[in-house]
Amino acid sequence: MELTRREFLERAGAVSVFSFSWWRLPWPADGQTDPAERVAEIPLIWMATGACTGCSVSLLNAASPTVRFALVGNVLPGKRLALAFHTTLMASSGDMAMRMLDRVVQEHSGGYVLVVDGATAIEERGEFCAIGERDGKPISGYEHIRDLGRNALATIAIGACASFGGIPAAPPNPTQCISVAELFERERIQNPIINVPGCPPHPDWVIGTISALVLGGLGALKLDALHRPAMFFGSLIHDNCPYRGHFERGEFAQRFGDHGCLIKLGCKGPMTHADCPIRHWNGGVNWCVEAGHPCVGCCEPEFPFEESLFQPVQPAQLTFPGTYPAAAGDRRRQADANTYAAVGMIGTAAFLAGVGVATAAGKIGPADAEVEAEPGTDREKGDAPAQP
Ligand code: SF4
Ligand code: SF4
Repeated sequence: MELTRREFLERAGAVSVFSFSWWRLPWPADGQTDPAERVAEIPLIWMATGACTGCSVSLLNAASPTVRFALVGNVLPGKRLALAFHTTLMASSGDMAMRMLDRVVQEHSGGYVLVVDGATAIEERGEFCAIGERDGKPISGYEHIRDLGRNALATIAIGACASFGGIPAAPPNPTQCISVAELFERERIQNPIINVPGCPPHPDWVIGTISALVLGGLGALKLDALHRPAMFFGSLIHDNCPYRGHFERGEFAQRFGDHGCLIKLGCKGPMTHADCPIRHWNGGVNWCVEAGHPCVGCCEPEFPFEESLFQPVQPAQLTFPGTYPAAAGDRRRQADANTYAAVGMIGTAAFLAGVGVATAAGKIGPADAEVEAEPGTDREKGDAPAQP
């Protein structure tokens, strides 16, 4: 029997461990009959619209717990997340995947978590992004987010694009991409939104936010003015950066590879809220600035910046204004002034040292003429003074 590619994928999806074993309905799960032992399952629908899939790749790098334990295991006390739909991770496809999505929405209206990854195009009725079909017609990403967002327990916008528009919405934005918040505003959807920005977001930010929401509800998440969880985005990169001392002393890298604060190379640490300097990336190995690259501000609404990622910015907050160099104003002149001052001091020191050496060697100075050589000394013999 010959199968088309689509038929093969549908049938393969039906037997895949990544399909229904990840989605266990209804609870009690796994034969648990004692109500006290019951584990409540919370469906998670991950909808990727105008995205590069980098956010999903970053999520898969989660180290502790791993994404499998976090999203399908029992690491949350009394709760189990059930990843019901994820176009990259699920094996089912076509009608089967869409039927599964419809079933989850019907059975858990108001009780599932919607995760959006990517910006949403609105130009040409959003036809640039279609996810699945219904009655033979493609469903746009816009329609999915609108309909799913209305009935979700909460919507989590993952990454810079879903949170603030990001790269798809950068000028000239030919597809008119917008963020989840803008889409909700257009559709007058009042449901709560949590933004977890980043390009990509750290896996801990994603798993930590979802876990806090599922365990403690919305009240467990303290959000800032941009709807970001304060536990991850509550402080400036600049305030925890190991190069902060260089910044304060006016020691600025002038080109890539130089040692020192990277603000002259466009570091956005002074205006970016995230815990990268403390958390580190790739399982705690390193982060952007310590790897020698300026922070590009990927957690802020301005990212990716109209002029350039490498355009220097003014620090948002000067915690101790009197002690900082003039980095908020004419940084180049200040840095160059520091350089000239350092060169001048070195030159003066070298001159004075030279005078001292020459004097000690008897080549210059009034002492040469005035001091009488004592009989029997090296000087009387015309030699240089003996070294101690
Ligand atoms: S400007 Fe950037 S490199 Fe310099 S101290 Fe601030 S965060 Fe660190
Ligand atoms: S250091 Fe800056 S650019 Fe790098 S991940 Fe953190 S917020 Fe984004």
